[in-house]
Amino acid sequence: MVQPIKSQTYPLLPLRGTLVFPYMVTPLEVGRVRSIEAVEQTMLRDGRIVLAAQHLVATEDPQPEDIYDVGTLCEVKQLLKVPEGQIRVLVEGISRVNLEHIDDAEGYYEAFVTPVPETVGEMDRYEREALMRIVREEFEKYVRLGKKIPAEVLLTVSSIEDVHRFADTIASQLNVAFKEKQRLLEIFPVDKRLEAILGLLYREGEILSMEKNIQQRVRKQMEKAQREYYLREQIKAIQMELGERDERGSTEIDELKDKLEKAKLPKEAKAKVLHEIHRLERMAPMAAEATVVRNYIDWMLALPWSKRTKDRLDLNVAEELLDRDHFGLDKVKERILEFLAVRQLTKSSKGPILCLVGPPGVGKTSLAQSVGTALNRNFSRLSLGGVRDEAEIRGHRRTYIGSMPGRIIQTLKTVGSLNPVIVLDEVDKLASDFRGDPASALLEVLDPEQNHRFGDHYLEVPFDLSEILFITTANVLHSIPPPLRDRMEVIEIPGYTEYEKFEIARRHLWPKQLKSNGLTPEQLQISDNTIYRIIHEYTKEAGVRTLERRLGTVCRKVATEIVKGQTQSARVTVSNVHKYLGIPRYHQSQANTEDKVGVATGLAFTTVGGEILSIEVTVVDGKGKLTLTGKLGEVMRESAQAALSYLRSRAAELGIDPKFHERCDIHMHIPEGAIPKDGPSAGITIATALASALTNRPVRHELSMTGEITLRGRVLPIGGVKEKLLAAHRAGITHVLLPVDNEKDLEEIPSSVLGKLQISLVEHMDEVLGHALYPVAESEGPLPFMLPNLPAGGEPWMGERT
Ligand code: ADP
Repeated sequence: MVQPIKSQTYPLLPLRGTLVFPYMVTPLEVGRVRSIEAVEQTMLRDGRIVLAAQHLVATEDPQPEDIYDVGTLCEVKQLLKVPEGQIRVLVEGISRVNLEHIDDAEGYYEAFVTPVPETVGEMDRYEREALMRIVREEFEKYVRLGKKIPAEVLLTVSSIEDVHRFADTIASQLNVAFKEKQRLLEIFPVDKRLEAILGLLYREGEILSMEKNIQQRVRKQMEKAQREYYLREQIKAIQMELGERDERGSTEIDELKDKLEKAKLPKEAKAKVLHEIHRLERMAPMAAEATVVRNYIDWMLALPWSKRTKDRLDLNVAEELLDRDHFGLDKVKERILEFLAVRQLTKSSKGPILCLVGPPGVGKTSLAQSVGTALNRNFSRLSLGGVRDEAEIRGHRRTYIGSMPGRIIQTLKTVGSLNPVIVLDEVDKLASDFRGDPASALLEVLDPEQNHRFGDHYLEVPFDLSEILFITTANVLHSIPPPLRDRMEVIEIPGYTEYEKFEIARRHLWPKQLKSNGLTPEQLQISDNTIYRIIHEYTKEAGVRTLERRLGTVCRKVATEIVKGQTQSARVTVSNVHKYLGIPRYHQSQANTEDKVGVATGLAFTTVGGEILSIEVTVVDGKGKLTLTGKLGEVMRESAQAALSYLRSRAAELGIDPKFHERCDIHMHIPEGAIPKDGPSAGITIATALASALTNRPVRHELSMTGEITLRGRVLPIGGVKEKLLAAHRAGITHVLLPVDNEKDLEEIPSSVLGKLQISLVEHMDEVLGHALYPVAESEGPLPFMLPNLPAGGEPWMGERT
């Protein structure tokens, strides 16, 4: 029977981090000296002791003020001394007590306490009963959620009817901080205490269910990871069985990932490839889509994202190389060296693009190649002739079957470095139509402001083209799309003179051909005259491409003879060259060898250089019809009309029948009728041929001319002077009429050519006729008209008259 409680002193046992509630039976370990002394004092008395918590768990030797004012008076039920001087006690809580004061007795604390009577509060019976039920329910939930409370506690709790015992039993079971429990101990009216317990239960319930959710989620993730690992291992085993995985256990995917690590891609590209590799991993290996993806990855990995060659920046070496591989072209080489010097000084790859313009076979490509060699860069050539589809430059999107990157990216893959020299051949032959505009795509490739992030449709990630040295070539400048032309530094390479061709052949082409046909200079010799003869009679070009081919033919034929054992060595001479090359294809000069009426020689400028052009006019009786034949273009036809109108306006002065336009038909023809011809520069030649035919005065055969004509007879300047003069020289012409305004162009003509040509600068058609037409022969009877300004020295005409 529990003895009644009085206000009196009891030994005090300070508790660390725990509490004992009334009604509860609790085991305690007692270790501190002072506490052991207190227990021993208790056993000497009535077995009752006051237990009260100290504020801080860490305090080893608590002072009276470190201890809470409310504690529990307990009875020691059992005492067990364990080794190392500790005691284990079993205590039962009896009632709450207020600690009035604490005295320091001999070696332990003595607390004077007053009991706290049990009070209920302000609720009525039913309310309290309801509260108890809710608390019980919540407690049940709490027990079910938390694992730490044994299920039999529930049984006990459900059988308790006394509200005080009920509240304290639940309070003692809660897994909350001891300070919260101390708070519960200090709430005296039981109603209030129950409410506080309910609050705690709600809160703890929430926390516990959250904990549970978290636990479940984490467990699920763990399980998933484990499951995947397990499945992957299984896949590996299956792949190994199927032979899709090699001995080392690596698959195509692993290899791709490996390659990706080594390829040093920029971040953006790497992420993209990784993404595609993951896609590939999830695809059936034989699926069509997988091939597309694999192809893409292969492309990406094969590109030189960060591989570059080291530049050799030595102008002297560059100069040497250019000189070694090319004869002449001094101005061009100088311009190229300047270009390289500036690049080197500015240390930037941004700058104009070189554009070499000239007829085929003048060495544009091979010059560009020398630039590559000089810089020690990789070299590649890309022909743009006839590229009409933008996709050729920019690639196809991957949605197309068999799509590929554009030509630029393809080239980069082949050369294998980020900074090659790329020659874009024939930029003037770019075409554009409904498939897009390749020129504007090319603009993006060439423009230094844009090309560091060039977007190829196939790659989908930008590629840096800014380190590439682009050199473009074109046959004519005017058909390069203007925006492209603006970005280029144009270097013109006109055609070669005969002498230059000879030197190129002797120094470069012949040794090259000998070597490539496996012959030695001892086995096959060629005389200088023979080379000249080949140039004259077997080629007709501004460059040296056909010449090189002809020399190649000679070498091949001799090589065959040697292999057949027909001969040991050979010498090609003027007299036996036809044996190798057949009958001459061209005659030494196409210039007329006789003076004729109605035939004038003009100079034309074509994509293969300059050419001479003979213009024939016949006048017959008729009704004033003008017929123009020879595939003449619009502009040339208009020129003919203008020339005719001019002659009509000058008929009286020229001694032409003023009514000739009503009495005769005129037919003008320009031979090589199948070749289209156009342009205004034949104007004065047409007028001359017409004048000759109408006045019946022959044209000097050694003379040719070029210039546009106005209705008033003024002679306007034309283009391509260099090429035209070279052609005239080639054709054996000795006298050329040029518009006055073209005088400045004469500076660029090699002196070897200028020395052999008489050049007359003309301003007006009258001067042209004065130079070109023979005066009327005396024997023909007086003509009503004498040409004005007839130059002195015009020999009387002796030739044939038609
Ligand atoms: P293009 O690109 O202008 O059409 P290429 O560069 O293909 O002409 O030249 C044709 C051939 O003529 C090449 O073998 C080239 O080496 C040779 N060649 C052209 N010009 C010269 C030159 N000045 N010196 C030496 N070889 C030349």
